[in-house]
Amino acid sequence: MALRRGFKAEAERSALELRERLNLHKDAPVEIGTVAELLGATVVDASELVDRRRLEEIESIQSFAFSACTFEIDGRHFIVVNPLRSPERQVSDVAHELAHLALGHELSEIRELDGVPFRTCDARQEEEATYLGATILLPRPLLLLEARKEATPETIAREFGVTRELASFRFNTTGVARQVERERQQGR
Ligand SMILES: [Zn+2]
Repeated sequence: MALRRGFKAEAERSALELRERLNLHKDAPVEIGTVAELLGATVVDASELVDRRRLEEIESIQSFAFSACTFEIDGRHFIVVNPLRSPERQVSDVAHELAHLALGHELSEIRELDGVPFRTCDARQEEEATYLGATILLPRPLLLLEARKEATPETIAREFGVTRELASFRFNTTGVARQVERERQQGR
């Protein structure tokens, strides 16, 4: 499914706006917990709510069935993350959930933690949340500065504490490497 026209540019703008509100420098890593605070959400480790062994059981029934989900209780959002994921993956998962909030997506699906692996249903909203989440973590201006320093998706992943998958996705789809290449050819 394709993102609607203009969505990518909007995602870049919202990511920059969030970073400005957090007083982050263009090339500073964003701490996802501070974005959560800014958006009025609390991040909760699922093992605080459910026995860790239960999480491992769910995982063994269907791996990656549960990564993160958001609940609203008394007007406050709680993002529950799966501690079985790598720290980098948890960062993507929280960013994805925060992007749903930033985009004003309804928490329409019934999500149950204990026992039921849940799937979200609106493919377009899922794609938007994934895209914006990744953009918040690695906005294009930051990637451009990194690319000028000859960074690679691997070094970016390490430096910014995100998965290599996310770093490659952002690095490749934003076209920063091509831009730097052009800049070099123009001899700047
Ligand atoms: Zn989602």
